[in-house]
Amino acid sequence: MNNVVNISDNERLVALFGLAAAQKNSQSLACPSDEQLAELIDNQLDHKQRTIMLSHLNQCNDCYQLWLETSTLLLEEKDLIELVTLESVRATGS
Ligand SMILES: [Zn+2]
Repeated sequence: MNNVVNISDNERLVALFGLAAAQKNSQSLACPSDEQLAELIDNQLDHKQRTIMLSHLNQCNDCYQLWLETSTLLLEEKDLIELVTLESVRATGS
């Protein structure tokens, strides 16, 4: 039964530390928008922004999953665009 009490105490501490960290360093802990994620995947962020985003992905599983899904989607889209471009080049060339 002591374990139950300890776990809830730990969770309260984690919540407090998380809150303090969020106030101190909100830039790295705020969830990025879809656009910012897309920019990260497209390599459009400068080094500082990129570091902030990647450190957030390290801490935030939600954003990490979103980043994984978005990067997969964007890569598939690019492949599709390349395929379509190739097809149209072939069509006009012949
Ligand atoms: Zn996040």
